[in-house]
Amino acid sequence: MSNLVIVLGDQLNLKMSSLHNFDKGSDTVLMSEVKEEATYVKHHKQKIAFVFSAMRHFSEVLEKEGHNTLYVKYDAKDNQGSLFEQIKHTCKNNSYSSITIAHPGEYRLLEEVKTWESKLNIPVNITSDNRFIASQQFFSDWAEGRKQYRMEFFYRELRKKTGVLMEDKQPRGGKWNYDADNRKPFGKNPDIPERTQFSPDEITEDVLNLVESQFSDHFGDIHNFSFAVTREGALSVLSDFVEQRLTDFGQYQDAMLEGDPWLFHSHIGLYLNVGLLMPEEVIQAAEEAYLNGDVPINSAEGFIRQILGWREYVRGFYWYFMPGLKEKNYLEASRSLPELYWSGKTKMNCMSQCVQDTKKYAYAHHIQRLMVLGNFALLTGIEPKALNEWYLLVYADAYEWVEMPNVSSMVLFADGGQLASKPYAASGSYINKMSNYCRNCEYSVKEKTGPQACPFNYLYWHFLYRHQENFSSNPRMAMIYKTMSKMDQTKFNHMLEDADTFLIKLENNEEV
Ligand SMILES: Cc1cc2nc3c(=O)[nH]c(=O)nc-3n(C[C@H](O)[C@H](O)[C@H](O)COP(=O)(O)OP(=O)(O)OC[C@H]3O[C@@H](n4cnc5c(N)ncnc54)[C@H](O)[C@@H]3O)c2cc1C
Ligand code: SF4
Repeated sequence: MSNLVIVLGDQLNLKMSSLHNFDKGSDTVLMSEVKEEATYVKHHKQKIAFVFSAMRHFSEVLEKEGHNTLYVKYDAKDNQGSLFEQIKHTCKNNSYSSITIAHPGEYRLLEEVKTWESKLNIPVNITSDNRFIASQQFFSDWAEGRKQYRMEFFYRELRKKTGVLMEDKQPRGGKWNYDADNRKPFGKNPDIPERTQFSPDEITEDVLNLVESQFSDHFGDIHNFSFAVTREGALSVLSDFVEQRLTDFGQYQDAMLEGDPWLFHSHIGLYLNVGLLMPEEVIQAAEEAYLNGDVPINSAEGFIRQILGWREYVRGFYWYFMPGLKEKNYLEASRSLPELYWSGKTKMNCMSQCVQDTKKYAYAHHIQRLMVLGNFALLTGIEPKALNEWYLLVYADAYEWVEMPNVSSMVLFADGGQLASKPYAASGSYINKMSNYCRNCEYSVKEKTGPQACPFNYLYWHFLYRHQENFSSNPRMAMIYKTMSKMDQTKFNHMLEDADTFLIKLENNEEV
């Protein structure tokens, strides 16, 4: 009796459930760099390099631990191009009594895995995805019967269940949420610690050469590659974050700075999402730093909320609402993705900077993704599928389970308010408050109309005006619609005209 265990590129941890009952005497692990997964969207070059290099390093760990491992490189002669064909090929040459795979992260892949058993005529055992703290069942039980699915309440349930930042059944410090102490912009010269970077070793160099030759038409620069590709490397990114940046994470988590997307963020999303780090150990590191008196409660709680709250919540939300989530388009947005999302060529400095960061590093922090790149997509009405594809391919941490709820539900309000109580729409003054982008912009954030006016200003009102029916009865938007009703009509019409002109230029691919 021998079992073939499939380890996917985002399941790189010895604790994965698929390896729990591994018999070193008879079982085999199969890992494969397949074209189908690397190209179903044209992932950023650094994302492919990261996943392939981390996979190659992890296969060495498996071998060292005594797991018989079959590793198929992208350019190997017997690479079959797709996961299923690779497994079929492997099963043809060896006889396996069963196949085991941990629950894939994406709906698309799970649907495919479910067909293997009948196609191969071998039992296929799908084990739970233990890269998360909350099971799908936990989310379903919480969500059942609700009309709205707010992260904050799910997070509190998980705090109670896990005991994280809890004392005598009460939240530590007396509050569940310290957001009121956060969201500060930077002062003049913030003193930001260097981010942890790694020089490519021989394995990574090979992968970088492969990516340059095989994926040259994919988005993004490759020469800035400096991610960790091993668990040890990822652990050192985590410990550097806790020691050097966690203290300031809370207060500056929404701030943006020209030329630096890394700031006081943790830069661990990509490691969590491929299993190099597990959420429990990340949360424990932050909680310990607080309990030892090394970091304030607003930073520890703010950071833990991202992992135990948002990350667990969006994953539960994704599986609960798939496959319907993919089709949602509540605001009937239909614009195709403007060229500037690829080229970064625009007079809008904030947009240009965020696209350039993304291109250079396969990274942008949350507020850049949400309140600049996402806000522009919401205000201009970009079609959800096109925007989802862009976000899925440009970031090194992007997988559909996390990207889609963030893009469709949080950015585009495409689910009509299941995730968010109101759209994350903002004018230029928010970007000006939270960043220094406006200082070097050809537009003026202070102006509301005319050729120099910041496009976010008039696009914001155009968005609210054209979606009055959708939002005017939303209690959280009552104030803003009241303000709109009191605005000088001539000035308001001028803003609508400027927005129309801008949208026509965008449609015609003219530089905006
Ligand atoms: C439009 C949009 C698209 C996004 N796409 C992705 C994506 O494809 N993959 C991804 O991992 N995150 C995504 N996020 C969430 C968040 O922006 C990234 O997790 C974060 O920027 C990663 O950088 P970091 O590790 O430095 O995070 P930090 O700011 O240091 O936060 C710590 C961790 O919290 C988790 N986290 C924070 N916010 C979220 C969130 N909204 N949803 C889920 N987890 C969260 C992540 O694991 C992150 O690593 C997206 C957000 C938006 C608004
Ligand atoms: S002025 Fe407007 S477009 Fe320019 S950087 Fe500021 S917010 Fe962005």
